[in-house]
Amino acid sequence: MIKAVVTGATGRMGARIINVLSGVEGISLSGAVEKKGHPLVGQDAGGPAGLPPTGVMITDDLDAALAAGSVLIDFTSPEATLEHARVCADHHRPIVVGTTGFSKEEVAQVKKYTDKISCVLAPNMSIGVNLSFKILAEVAQALGDDYDVEIVEAHHRMKKDAPSGTAMKMAQVLSTALNRNLDEVGVFARKGIIGERSRKEIGVQTVRAGDIVGEHTVYFAGKGERIEITHRAHSRDTFAAGAVRAALWVSAKKSGMYDMQDVLGLK
Ligand code: NAD
Repeated sequence: MIKAVVTGATGRMGARIINVLSGVEGISLSGAVEKKGHPLVGQDAGGPAGLPPTGVMITDDLDAALAAGSVLIDFTSPEATLEHARVCADHHRPIVVGTTGFSKEEVAQVKKYTDKISCVLAPNMSIGVNLSFKILAEVAQALGDDYDVEIVEAHHRMKKDAPSGTAMKMAQVLSTALNRNLDEVGVFARKGIIGERSRKEIGVQTVRAGDIVGEHTVYFAGKGERIEITHRAHSRDTFAAGAVRAALWVSAKKSGMYDMQDVLGLK
């Protein structure tokens, strides 16, 4: 039995992960961790997850939780995740990272620990989005430079980072497929007299509103037609189920850095 520790245990994602985990065979909740000073520390982890009491109390002591657990599932913040990855490396425990909003340097820092431990890091853990990454690369290669590429993403008003990690990954997948450098062609805002669109730019636009769980549309627009590829998440349970699947998968892997394409066998 894999013993899962969840950090950010009372967050929007952490709570759903604890809920989904309770219905999956081969894995059980052994630790629920929140930041120091969180009002729910000391309470049963079942409450925020909409479950009956689990017997696992929310703690702020990740060290102790990891000593008794076998894998960490982390959906918190970039700063917290960096610290949690370090603690995982100390304990030789694999980690699943769903947190988004990392800088390139921060991703490199997480990667450093994967000399010692296995890690799945993915900005989106749903099957549909990961399949979309594959489809988007194929469509972009087939259409080439004749079609303008634009990404529009929408999320709830509480989301802290923008554009979403998923939109950034889509932009990366598309720029790689089109042999472009995203640092040069990414356009993240437009306003005023901006002139004609350059042929190779990849636009990434952000909507923040209400309780939208997560939507991404990629436009491939040419003369007289366009293709739109859209993914809509109906609930966070799609990400939670992916995270639990990743935790089972990564527990059997050698040290190294992996993503959801690896977990889902899409490479
Ligand atoms: P949230 O703010 O609801 O939850 C974050 C939780 O982490 C909070 O409960 C907070 O108290 C806790 N936390 C912060 N610092 C901590 C620490 N040091 N130790 C323990 N807990 C700590 O946010 P959310 O909507 O659950 O999203 C969390 C992250 O997951 C974001 O980066 C979001 O973009 C990302 N996300 C990823 C996916 C995916 O599929 N990869 C899907 C949805 C959200």
